[in-house]
Amino acid sequence: MSSSLNESVPEIVDVAIVGAGITGLSAAWHLTERGLRVAAFDGTGIGSGATAVQPGGVRQQWGTEVACRMALEAYAFYSDIGDRLTPAVDPKLTACGYLFVARGEEELAAQRQRLALQHRLGIPSREVTPDEAGEVVEGLDTSGIVGGVWCDQDGYFDRPLAVVGAFADAAKRGGATFHDRRVEAIARDGEGWKLSLRGGETTRAGAVVVAAAWDTPELLTPLGAELPITREPRYLFYSDPIRERLLEPLVIVPEAHFAAKQLADGSVLASDLGAGSRPGEGKEDWHSNVRRAITATLPILEYVSFPVLVEGFYDVTPDRQPVVGAIDGHDGLFVAAGLNGRGLMMAPTIGRVIADGVVAGRIEDTMKPLSPSRFADGQLTPELQVV
Ligand SMILES: Cc1cc2nc3c(=O)[nH]c(=O)nc-3n(C[C@H](O)[C@H](O)[C@H](O)COP(=O)(O)OP(=O)(O)OC[C@H]3O[C@@H](n4cnc5c(N)ncnc54)[C@H](O)[C@@H]3O)c2cc1C
Repeated sequence: MSSSLNESVPEIVDVAIVGAGITGLSAAWHLTERGLRVAAFDGTGIGSGATAVQPGGVRQQWGTEVACRMALEAYAFYSDIGDRLTPAVDPKLTACGYLFVARGEEELAAQRQRLALQHRLGIPSREVTPDEAGEVVEGLDTSGIVGGVWCDQDGYFDRPLAVVGAFADAAKRGGATFHDRRVEAIARDGEGWKLSLRGGETTRAGAVVVAAAWDTPELLTPLGAELPITREPRYLFYSDPIRERLLEPLVIVPEAHFAAKQLADGSVLASDLGAGSRPGEGKEDWHSNVRRAITATLPILEYVSFPVLVEGFYDVTPDRQPVVGAIDGHDGLFVAAGLNGRGLMMAPTIGRVIADGVVAGRIEDTMKPLSPSRFADGQLTPELQVV
């Protein structure tokens, strides 16, 4: 997505943001809402990283308390996005429902455990028998499954890039400026920070938020903050748009590493969730894995062909949780990265937490499981419900 970028770089701002993906954009808007002067820098333009690839999925079914709480808050925000951000284009959040299918008892037991946590926190998911799964997902072959979990509120933005535009436009209305510049280094500068930009310019800021996905460690390692955020390839197969509606909900079969959904424009999206992680495999192997899963679980898609393969990257961490917090020993330096495939659906919460943290000088305690120091301290809370 491109949008009007400011040519001249400000000499000094309250907060500088590195990275104008959905995470940096949400932080920018929340910061302007608190009356702060914000400048965001991105080497390749607004929404040009992983944010450009994501197809708009939003769910509340997670396996750890911190992820469920973030998802709940973000879902409430998105349900009200028209009033909150007054988007130029309605992004249209459709509650199509997400079904996690279990083929075996072990998977079902794991899903039940997460369900108990979700219920304690007020997420309206429920267990379904194979017959009930067949009722919520027309076209599902229930013969090979033992059950599953379903949440009818989970859904999809029909126009996910309109969410990106909504945050960017709202931040600009609040006075934030966006600059097409790569940040090459961040260094202490008196009480604040100095950002060195490609091309030789500099900007000073009272606080810095690094929301640069897998490039985050490159900026923070020179300051002594080691973060294990790496890049992992992900692949989505797309069909051409199909007139008939074949599959409204999103169906995930964790044991087959498979997910599928028909989008609003009629195209069917299907993914081998393990593609890229098995050495020696390529496009044809992923395609036949998708085909096998379709035959076994969603025969209604049997004659759909998938001519388009899109590659994107997750920014991942060892515990599959984002890194959201202040960098110890570096007053005013914050990070929001390592989104592990959930950046769009968590953006409203992460932006709010970062903005509150910048104002308070510390991040709220509920976000402790996401703190940058958890890796060095060995305090990990692994999230297993990653798709
Ligand atoms: C195939 C696929 C499907 C997905 N599906 C979903 C989904 O359904 N729902 C969902 O919520 N999420 C989904 N995701 C994940 C989602 O896309 C990401 O989590 C999210 O976009 C991350 O946003 P971000 O702003 O943190 O990072 P990015 O969008 O990657 O933005 C980081 C930005 O930082 C910039 N940058 C990096 N280094 C520097 C530097 N030194 N100076 C200046 N700028 C810099 C980059 O240019 C980039 O624009 C999916 C991802 C993929 C790949």
